[in-house]
Amino acid sequence: MRLVVLGGGESGVGTAILGKKKGYDVFVSDFGKIKENYKEVLSINDIPWEDEKHTESLILNADVVMKSPGIPEKTPIVKRLLELNIPVISEIEFAAPFTTAKTIGITGSNGKTTTTLLIYHLLQQGGLNVGLAGNIGKSFAWQVAENNHDVYVLELSSFQLDGVLNYKPDIAIITNLSPDHLDRYNYDYNLYIASKFRITKNQSEDNYLILDNEDVEIKKWLQNNKIKAQIIPFSLLDETEKGVFLKENNINSKINNEEFTMPINELALEGKHNLKNAMAATAVAQLMKIRKQTIRESLSNFQGAEHRLEKTLKIQNVQYINDSKATNVNATFFALDSMQTPTVWIVGGVDKGNDYDELMSLVRQKVKGIVCLGVDNQKLFQTFSGVVDTMIETTSMSEAVKIAQKMAEKGDTVLLSPCCASFDLFENYEDRGKQFKQAVHNL
Ligand code: ADP
Repeated sequence: MRLVVLGGGESGVGTAILGKKKGYDVFVSDFGKIKENYKEVLSINDIPWEDEKHTESLILNADVVMKSPGIPEKTPIVKRLLELNIPVISEIEFAAPFTTAKTIGITGSNGKTTTTLLIYHLLQQGGLNVGLAGNIGKSFAWQVAENNHDVYVLELSSFQLDGVLNYKPDIAIITNLSPDHLDRYNYDYNLYIASKFRITKNQSEDNYLILDNEDVEIKKWLQNNKIKAQIIPFSLLDETEKGVFLKENNINSKINNEEFTMPINELALEGKHNLKNAMAATAVAQLMKIRKQTIRESLSNFQGAEHRLEKTLKIQNVQYINDSKATNVNATFFALDSMQTPTVWIVGGVDKGNDYDELMSLVRQKVKGIVCLGVDNQKLFQTFSGVVDTMIETTSMSEAVKIAQKMAEKGDTVLLSPCCASFDLFENYEDRGKQFKQAVHNL
């Protein structure tokens, strides 16, 4: 069997190693440059590769193709493969049959990384031999090749799920749905939603699907589609017979006749959105039979992920918060919602078709000043000038932080929550967050 791997990054190289180990004739092709360390790994494992081109004669003879998630379906070589009816699958689809480990798959528009890390932490604290993969860290396929875990917690983007044919997670989570990445889905929101629900399409009655019971799009989908897995809802509103819900400032959970309860003020992560993430993680921990005491301790000592409402320094009693990962309106909505003190908000970047009106009432309530950091701030000015006391624009992070410091008074918060992609001024959201933290340290 010939396995062609498109993309020589983390998931591509991992897939190549696993394929080689399982006896495939493997070839890796990348239209960009493959990093030196990956080239070395491929060579050591005797796996042929090419970069900065796709040689059709070496690719179109594949029996199966693993496409890395970053490569769009409309790429000419992928179109050609699909015309020839050659299966084009994702890393998760390729690797899953080679392990008997349980998998927990997490998808959704926001909260994937936080929820994935939280579940990983809970299961690790519970003593399970658990691996962390998907969009995070070492690739799933690579870890499966090394055969080293009993359970995997997988962060699954819609791009990973697009290449799913038969994969079924034992436990799936859909955190929430809001428009994102629509450029990859012909600007059709329904296609994006359908892609997220691929996480459950192969699940059976003995599997679980954990989801936000209040999410409008999720509710709509459930009305119109049949789900085979057992559904566990989580909700900040209703007391449901099953699932996880909020009652008198406690997380309450009733799953498989087991009850769990914990005061929300003991949770390590703040904000309503993180309460939902904690609820989803609690459901998983209960299904995995983690002791209640361990669940409680783990939820209260979890160290949040970098660039997600990350508290950096407090200077002259002003708290600086790095939420650089907020690259869409929904994420910023929850960031503003969780602000407890008057806030100076640093926002802007590459607009993905944002509708800022959704933030209007929170901005009125919580924001005293806005620093626009990006190349195109027109829409932000149109929406918010006159709504807040001061609005200033800049294209430098260090300037932005200095301006914010001037606007803030004792007891206030300075929040970087850009609502936008970062590619105008930064390499990526990590670079933006790091520059923010550096600028705050320099104050
Ligand atoms: P993802 O991996 O889906 O991008 P992250 O956990 O990295 O999600 O969080 C991305 C952004 O969304 C951060 O700004 C974070 O504060 C915010 N966020 C986290 N969880 C949620 C949630 N459940 N709903 C909405 N926003 C969230």
